[in-house]
Amino acid sequence: AKSAGGNRFEIADPEADARAITRHGLTTALPAALERGEFFIEYQPLVHLGDGTVHGAEALVRWCHPQHGVLGPDQFIPLAEHTGLIVPLGRWVLQESVRQARYWQERHSDGGPLRINVNLSPTQLHHPGLVADTVDVLERSGLEPGALCLEVTESALIGANEDLLKPLRQLAEMGVDIALDDFGTGYSNLANLRRLPVSVLKLDRSFTQGMQRHPADPVDLKIVEGIVTLAHSLELAVTVEGVETGAQAEQLRELGCDTAQGWYYARPGPPDKLHALSMADAV
Ligand code: C2E
Ligand code: CA
Ligand code: CA
Ligand code: CA
Repeated sequence: AKSAGGNRFEIADPEADARAITRHGLTTALPAALERGEFFIEYQPLVHLGDGTVHGAEALVRWCHPQHGVLGPDQFIPLAEHTGLIVPLGRWVLQESVRQARYWQERHSDGGPLRINVNLSPTQLHHPGLVADTVDVLERSGLEPGALCLEVTESALIGANEDLLKPLRQLAEMGVDIALDDFGTGYSNLANLRRLPVSVLKLDRSFTQGMQRHPADPVDLKIVEGIVTLAHSLELAVTVEGVETGAQAEQLRELGCDTAQGWYYARPGPPDKLHALSMADAV
């Protein structure tokens, strides 16, 4: 049967082929793209829920591809993770966004120091140069470690042993904040939080989405309230992602969340946009 119908079970799927070619094409194009400077960073403000002032910004990388246009991180970060290019790419993102944060601080005299959040992927966490690279970037820019927050996903830390946590502990001891990103999407063991060197919980967008219904599901509200209470009792700050309406922002503020991020405040954008926003606060 095998020889006779050699192709019988191969279902032709030109789209799958195209996807594979694109994936392959993108993957092989990554190193040159980094060298040619095709990546850029958009910044999305993080806002204090109490008074609406800008607390800092999250750096979100994009690729301006010569043929495909602007690609979002979901389209190439997994490829860069897979090939290891995420290490030099991540280093570039860190360097560039820390430099930008320092620039804002120098021009933002009385608004309090603007902070910068940078995403770290699992491969970067495992890379032995993480602490040295971060120290180097901070020293060269002059940004104080306390103004940097590294975001690691909850899933990257699930089951993490001491070896994996050690570099994060070292960074935390230097004053760098570590945020647990996408919190609530994994199999969170809340009791486990005490063991992790994190100082911020970023509640995943799925929680804020649950609040879009009117009235919001009371169980969703109870869950968020419970997480906030627990986080605060462990001295963790709570940031919420994906805030799209004023009503959500108000509700999250009432539930005790500290900072928020989302389209309601601003979409990710070029550095000038955030500069203008934070300058408006300072008035
Ligand atoms: P993330 O860290 O959870 O980042 C938040 C994502 O939510 C961003 O998508 C942001 O544009 C989007 N977002 C923000 N506010 C809203 C909102 O109100 N509503 C909705 N629907 N979406 C909102 P983006 O920029 O496409 O980034 C996707 C993911 O890519 C990030 O998720 C992060 O995990 C990863 N990523 C981005 N930049 C980097 C980077 O430099 N390094 C690494 N390792 N990963 C990165
Ligand atoms: Ca993030
Ligand atoms: Ca997130
Ligand atoms: Ca997310």
